[in-house]
Amino acid sequence: MNLINIIQEVVNNFIYETKIVVDDSTFPPQKIDPTQYDAENDIILVKSSYDTVKDPAGWMVHEKVHAKLRNTPDDGKQYPSNSIERAAYTEQFKYLKQKGYTFDQIFTIPTMEHKKRYYNILKNYWGK
Ligand SMILES: [Zn+2]
Repeated sequence: MNLINIIQEVVNNFIYETKIVVDDSTFPPQKIDPTQYDAENDIILVKSSYDTVKDPAGWMVHEKVHAKLRNTPDDGKQYPSNSIERAAYTEQFKYLKQKGYTFDQIFTIPTMEHKKRYYNILKNYWGK
C-alpha cells in the first residue's frame, strides 16, 4: 500500500466514524430511535442518552450502513420494506445475533421495543 492509499483510508475511516452527539430534546418527540442518519450533511446524529461505544441495540451499525449507501438509490418502498432499510437492518441483526440475541429477544432491548410493530417485515431480515 502506498502513502496515498494509506491517507485515503485514514480519511475514509474518519468520515465513516463521524457522528454528532446531540441532546435528546433535539430529536422530535415522536422519534423514538436514538440515532438518525443525516444524508445531507453525511453525519450520524445520536441522542446523548445512547451509548455509541457499547451500541447495545446496534443502531450505530444500522446508521453506518445508511452512510455507506448514501449514494445508492433505494427502491422507493415504504419503511422498513425498502432496499436501504433492508440492508441496514440486516447488518444490525447480524451484529445482534453475534451478541447472542434471538429475534424475539431483540424487542426487549431498550430503543428496540417500538420496532415490534414491524415484526413480520423485520423477521425476513433476521434470516435463519
Ligand atoms: Zn434505517
